[in-house]
Amino acid sequence: MSNEYRMKAVKEIAAAPAAPVMEAAPADLGFYGEDVFNAEAMRAYLPKEICRKLFATIDEGAPLDPDIAGEVAHAMKKWAIDRGATHFTHWFQPLTGSTAEKHDSFLEPEDGKAIMAFSGKNLIVGEPDASSFPSGGLRSTFEARGYTAWDPTSPAFIKRHGNGATLCIPTAFCSYTGEALDKKTPLLRSIQALQKSADRLMGLFGVPRQKVTVTLGAEQEYFLVDKRFYLQRPDLYQAGRTLFGAAPAKHQQMEDHYFGSIPARILNFMNDVEKELWKLGIPAKTRHNEVAPAQFELAPMFEEVNLACDHNMQIMEVLRQVADRHGLVCLLHEKPFAGINGSGKHNNWSVNYGGTNLLNPGKDPHQNAIFLTTLCAVIYAVDTHADLLRMAVSGAGNDHRLGANEAPPAIISMYLGDQLADVVGQLEKGEPKSSKHAGAMKLGSDTLPPLPRDATDRNRTSPFAFTGNKFEFRAPGSSQSCSEPNVVLNTIVAEAFDMIADKLAKVPAKRFHEELQKLLQKIVKEHKRVIFNGNGYTDEWVAEAERRGLPNTRTTMEALKALNSKANVALFEKYGVFNRRELESRYEVNLEEYHKRIHIEGKIAYGMARDIVLPQLLEAYAEALSANAMAKEQGLPGVGARARELGEKYAALESAVARMGKALGEKHERILEAMAALRTVVDEVEGIVPDGKWPLPKYREMLFVY
Ligand code: ADP
Ligand code: MG
Repeated sequence: MSNEYRMKAVKEIAAAPAAPVMEAAPADLGFYGEDVFNAEAMRAYLPKEICRKLFATIDEGAPLDPDIAGEVAHAMKKWAIDRGATHFTHWFQPLTGSTAEKHDSFLEPEDGKAIMAFSGKNLIVGEPDASSFPSGGLRSTFEARGYTAWDPTSPAFIKRHGNGATLCIPTAFCSYTGEALDKKTPLLRSIQALQKSADRLMGLFGVPRQKVTVTLGAEQEYFLVDKRFYLQRPDLYQAGRTLFGAAPAKHQQMEDHYFGSIPARILNFMNDVEKELWKLGIPAKTRHNEVAPAQFELAPMFEEVNLACDHNMQIMEVLRQVADRHGLVCLLHEKPFAGINGSGKHNNWSVNYGGTNLLNPGKDPHQNAIFLTTLCAVIYAVDTHADLLRMAVSGAGNDHRLGANEAPPAIISMYLGDQLADVVGQLEKGEPKSSKHAGAMKLGSDTLPPLPRDATDRNRTSPFAFTGNKFEFRAPGSSQSCSEPNVVLNTIVAEAFDMIADKLAKVPAKRFHEELQKLLQKIVKEHKRVIFNGNGYTDEWVAEAERRGLPNTRTTMEALKALNSKANVALFEKYGVFNRRELESRYEVNLEEYHKRIHIEGKIAYGMARDIVLPQLLEAYAEALSANAMAKEQGLPGVGARARELGEKYAALESAVARMGKALGEKHERILEAMAALRTVVDEVEGIVPDGKWPLPKYREMLFVY
């Protein structure tokens, strides 16, 4: 073994044209949404009356009229066949965290020939053999069936491959007893819960009932590496992250990558990604270089949360597939490379009541009071349920970001920006007279000072920041589904709305604003400990947060406990989002997945160290020893010091490998410790083995050569 393949990859990349000519996306965007069965397609393929009923279900949440399913299915099939589809699938999101599909063709034999058929029943329910999906004990194996149920609020779409296409129907996935086995079902339930609570609260403000729309804009970070390097790293292609690799001389210290000009090869990739996404009606909007070398970001425009979550799953898939076409690999792992930034998924969340964003600071006293009430509800919710927010972003991959020395910290705190913090401060004092930016402020009669959008988002170290008209939750990991964080946000804010509505329900109208002001004042007093506008990356904040009594949950194992607490079970049951069995099942599934991952990584590390690194080190050691012996024979200066250094490292590595092997039979903490110890030695070895003998692509190559 030598560095032959590493160097071959570098040479090939060097010889490749910087920007191969490709087919450009049409500039007029006429193709936007052409692979989605959207309103336009429905109008074109369905009779008016059926269309009207379907829209009522989609837009107003009216129950679906079962009689129209047959006609909708027929239209959908025709539309899909016109786009080259021969198969359909119920597309769902099991607890594995990825998406699942089982294809059926439209084929139906008839008199020795075949026709294309697709019934209303095919559209509405599916029965995948679900026994191999994780259920955490919810589905005993003798009752292995699960069913998928059409979600008409997320439009069907076409997925293309080289020589064909498949109609994908977004569905929820449940057990036969109706328990959720997926990520979509609880999200839909949480939106309903928020609708009920918002109706109560808005009713008190005299706002007539309207539809709640939760909006989500999920910024997606990722790394790209050349496939030729990737395939030489078993850790990357098996675990999605490097388990070894010494820091290169230059990585992100110069801060020269962020927002830098995008390399031609990457721009070509991004263009193709956007073309695919636009065809699918996914509003990819922003693209740029991220902080770490070879790290990038894609942000779509925000959308209704259920749709945005589905779209994020599609975005991750398109990123991977298009990367492959470009000879690249898209790494969505939270921490593919040690020592440089990891990847997150910024979850921009807001609630609209009818056409009004409740997190939009008001232009008039009425809207102003609603905004401050919503803001205080979120403050209350985040402080009261920080454990659930932390749970929602837990996982083996994200443990390397949260709680390690990296952004954002595992302590859930909120950033409001100076001006809003000032307003909240006044609210607390109960004498809102001294605003830096406006005169006295009294709920129900005064307006807020206009809050400049940009000024609110200068703090990038906070896990939960108010950014003008939405909250940005920055802790979710890049590979995680958007579902959990939003299930938690919707549910805890529903509870906060209810708490406020309960307290104000009996207050006479003329004292409403006065009592509201007192209540908000109380909320701020009791929960302001969660507000922190300083630098969240410092040790001082860790100490300060501890003084404030804020939890600092560093690991997945600790974070998952939130799923079992009595209070949380009661909360989710009250809002009909999860029952106790569903929570237990999720705890089981997450725990098991965590343990499996750690164990797999441990085995990979062990194998690579023993079978790849150790033999190379031995070879280098043997060469140094014989060079030293020969030098002595000739009476020349020896290389004894070098031979000794290699020999000592050999001994150290052998013992670290042995410890790793032993740890594989022990509990996960031991595995993690042994992996960390092994990594330290292997990375030192990388520094002393001659480059010509090192077969694993180095960080400097993976991060800078593409
Ligand atoms: P950055 O956070 O990097 O400054 P942007 O300001 O462009 O980025 O916004 C990030 C994301 O927030 C985008 O996906 C955007 O569509 C989304 N966003 C904007 N307004 C809302 C909203 N009201 N609700 C949810 N997401 C929103
Ligand atoms: Mg952002």
